[in-house]
Amino acid sequence: PEPLSPRELLALDRQHVWHPYGPMPGRAAPLLVESASGVRLRLAEPVEGQDELVDGMSSWWSAVHGYNHPVLNDAAHGQLGRMSHVMFGGLTHEPAVRLAKRLVDITPEPLEHVFLADSGSVSVEVAVKMCLQYWRSLGKPRKQRLLTWRGGYHGDTWQPMSVCDPDGGMHELWQGVLPRQIFADAPPAGFDAAPDEAYAAQLRELIGRHAEELAAVIVEPVVQGAGGMSFHSPGYLRVLREACDAHGVLLVFDEIATGFGRTGALFAAEHAGVAPDVMCLGKALTGGYLTLAATLCTAAVADGISRGALPVLAHGPTFMGNPLAAAVADASIDLLLSQDWAREVKRIEAGLWEGLAPARSHAGVREVRVLGAIGVVQLDHEVDMAAATRAAVREGVWLRPFRDLIYTMPPYITGDDDLARICAAVCAAAREG
Ligand code: PLP
Repeated sequence: PEPLSPRELLALDRQHVWHPYGPMPGRAAPLLVESASGVRLRLAEPVEGQDELVDGMSSWWSAVHGYNHPVLNDAAHGQLGRMSHVMFGGLTHEPAVRLAKRLVDITPEPLEHVFLADSGSVSVEVAVKMCLQYWRSLGKPRKQRLLTWRGGYHGDTWQPMSVCDPDGGMHELWQGVLPRQIFADAPPAGFDAAPDEAYAAQLRELIGRHAEELAAVIVEPVVQGAGGMSFHSPGYLRVLREACDAHGVLLVFDEIATGFGRTGALFAAEHAGVAPDVMCLGKALTGGYLTLAATLCTAAVADGISRGALPVLAHGPTFMGNPLAAAVADASIDLLLSQDWAREVKRIEAGLWEGLAPARSHAGVREVRVLGAIGVVQLDHEVDMAAATRAAVREGVWLRPFRDLIYTMPPYITGDDDLARICAAVCAAAREG
């Protein structure tokens, strides 16, 4: 095709392309990325004097190994030469089998079966279907509702939206139309804080009171991400586990954002030493290379479903179990586990504490918090997203602030100098946003 100049591409983008959470028509002003390597995004033309940006977002928290990684490139090329896709109904292939075995091996103990989907939201849809179908199969069709925490985020398709933060969150528009779920208050903030007994009692009471109609409790363990970037004590996960067991309710952990080391444990559930009945994974599963997610469940959940009138999990869109994505995911997990990833995340955690400390004294900053490779500056006002983004770009860094939050989740390969640069950009964005 005829080459198009950056200006032409951006004009066509404005005319035709709808971006995530973007306005239509053509009011978004995205930056044009030409290529990406390591932790850097190369822009097609300079913006604010920068032609490269250090990615402080890991492409929405997924590119933990950075971009254009030779190991992941090799995995993709190798699999491309064999087959990029084949239907997964009635057929199987080595990448999916290897990946499923690998996921069962590294996730908490009783998780045994793996459904490979194509995005985090769909993996949550699958998790919900599993739970609802499980109770139907066991002759308890009233147990069809979900309980979750306020302040959560589980994706943009229909069931996940019904368990996102109902108050002023991204899906407030749909309240009243979405399935009616049960909301508990968000857990008290503070990863290191001792669990609040009064709050724990509230959780137990709510689960007990609604047990007859509850299929499952679904939460983001330890970090509530896109709903507010808040951290809570792992102790509440133990409370949920005990209450769910006591009242016959399934427990789902959505580890789409927290999985693969982001919080300093391979999976956030490990901080609490508890296992869910169903777990969702996505984002960093393929190191951010390709779209893939997974829903894992215990043998008990799968056995329950297979005892029903419809003894199959009725879910099978076209691109389930994609071999290209599965091969890259397996290579990405290999890459992660072959290094001392926990040391790298600890190094980043220390760098974030140090680098974000100056933001504490800025007027308008409410709190600075860090957990693993997650650094958050919370303002006491709604951020001016355009001004904050521009301030970060001027520092040579890509950030995507939202609501009252400026945060970073850098790739684990981010070196100390680049990390300092990201922190400086977060501070600048906090000052100017
Ligand atoms: N669950 C959590 C905790 C998430 O953070 C996200 C995405 O940010 C999702 C689910 C949805 O995943 P996806 O964007 O891949 O559909």
